[in-house]
Amino acid sequence: MPFRYQTVLLKISGEALQGQTGFGLDPDTVDDIASQIAEVSREGVRLGLVIGGGNIFRGQALADRGLNRVTGDHMGMLATVINALAMQDALERQGLETRVQSAIRMVEFCEPFIRRRAIRHLEKGRVVIFAAGTGNPYLTTDTAAVLRASEIGADIILKATKVDGIYDCDPVKNKDAKLYEQINYMDVIKLKLRVMDTTAISLAMENRIPTIVFNLQTKGNIKKTILGEPVGTLVTE
Ligand code: UDP
Repeated sequence: MPFRYQTVLLKISGEALQGQTGFGLDPDTVDDIASQIAEVSREGVRLGLVIGGGNIFRGQALADRGLNRVTGDHMGMLATVINALAMQDALERQGLETRVQSAIRMVEFCEPFIRRRAIRHLEKGRVVIFAAGTGNPYLTTDTAAVLRASEIGADIILKATKVDGIYDCDPVKNKDAKLYEQINYMDVIKLKLRVMDTTAISLAMENRIPTIVFNLQTKGNIKKTILGEPVGTLVTE
C-alpha cells in the first residue's frame, strides 16, 4: 500500500497506556496499541516511538506536592522507561524486532540513544522506542518527540490523543467545539490551543516537521494517518 509517510515518529502519552485503570499500565491496552503499530511496521513504515510517563509520574505534579522539581522530573523520565519496556515487550509478542534507546544510560535494560545507530535500526525495519525523554528536566516527552523526529529525519510526527484532533475549545466541555482540519504552528501558539507545550511546538516549527494530532482510541487511525487519509488535525509550518 502506498504510504504517504515513510519515516514516522509516533508520540503516545503515558495515559494512553493506562486504559480504564486510573494509574499505571493496562496490558490489554498496550497490546491493542502494539497490534496497530505492528500492522504498519510490517508494511515497511519506519517507526520511531516516544512514550510519555504521565500514567506513572509527572515532575510538575510531584513538585506541586512538595518534591524537588528536578527529582520529580527524573522520576518522570524513569516512568517513560517503564512504559517503553512494556511497549517493547508487546511489540515483540507481535513478532516485531525492536530496540529501546534511552536518553539516560541504563545499559542493562536498553541501548543508550545513539542517533546513527537508531537510523540503522529503522533501516533494518526495527521499531525504535526512544525512552527517558530528552534526558533533561523541565522538558516534556512532546519536546523529546520533536527532537527525535528531527534527528531521525521523520516525515511526520503523529501525536496520539483521546480526542479527534485540535479544536477551537475543549470538546469535552463544549459540544459546539470546532475541529480544525489544518492549522499552522504559529496559530496554535497564538490561540493558546493546548496541543503540545510551546518548546515542542517551536522546535517543530523551526525544523519544519508537520504534526498530525489524532484520536488513538479509534481503531485503525495509526494506519489511516500514515496512508495520508484525512484523520485528525494537520499542523504545519
Ligand atoms: N520529563 C523530563 N524531561 C523530558 C521528558 C520528560 O523531565 O525530556 C519528565 C517530566 O517530569 C514529565 C515526565 O517525565 O512530566 C513524563 O513525561 P510527560 O509528562 O511528557 O508524559 P505524557 O504526558 O506524555 O504521558
